[in-house]
Amino acid sequence: MSNRFLDAESSYYNTQFIHNDLNGLNIESNSEMKIKVIGHVDTFTLKTIHENYEIISKNLKVYPTINVYSRDYKFEGGFGGFYYYDKNHINIADHYYIVSMLAHEMRHAYQYIYFPNLFFNTSYSSVREYLACDIERDARGYALDYCTIREYWEEVRECQKIEQDYELVIQNKMTASTVGLDEGYFIKKPYGSTLTTRNYQSNERALNYSEKKVKQNSILNKQLHPFIKATLITCASILGLGFVLLGLFSIIILLAAMVPD
Ligand SMILES: [Zn+2]
Repeated sequence: MSNRFLDAESSYYNTQFIHNDLNGLNIESNSEMKIKVIGHVDTFTLKTIHENYEIISKNLKVYPTINVYSRDYKFEGGFGGFYYYDKNHINIADHYYIVSMLAHEMRHAYQYIYFPNLFFNTSYSSVREYLACDIERDARGYALDYCTIREYWEEVRECQKIEQDYELVIQNKMTASTVGLDEGYFIKKPYGSTLTTRNYQSNERALNYSEKKVKQNSILNKQLHPFIKATLITCASILGLGFVLLGLFSIIILLAAMVPD
């Protein structure tokens, strides 16, 4: 069976996988430079986070900054962590299953940095859509694969158990609140499909618009582009030729006027 951690490791020797420093936001550095603690986090947990950051960052070639909040910290929507792609930053709250959570959020950084088209081709406005979308399934898959390779068996069991519950929520057989997610949050703050170009790192602005608009635009583009292009080129050519002829004509008239009778 394939394993996402091993896949990433083997792609390390593949020329397609080149470290992208995101114009300074993803510079290779050790965990001491990247991880900050907000509030109280016990030494053992923090050591575990640092150790695993070192391994995951090298495996995925992602070096996000991380703020680790104390266990009682509550994020909106019921999330245990959050990845901010525009800052390549992760907020994470101390948790009993912290390794899988760290792996999950760092996988989002990997998706954004190395697969932006897939990362942005995501939209959801309900817990079911959120749990079922590709980037979430991939991040959960990586967390499970990572814990398996590192033999965090208790976290592996938890990942497998929660995956079964998520399937039930996706199939509408279990409520979102049972798995600790807030349905109201997703209705209030739907996540829109965002379009960006492959070279978005060079300060290109990402454009937000709904999937419907993307489809409409692409149809319009396909139908009108060659036609508009041909028309513009023809108009420009006629206009250009007109100006040249007009210029020549003026010179002839001028010369004719200058010729003495
Ligand atoms: Zn996620």
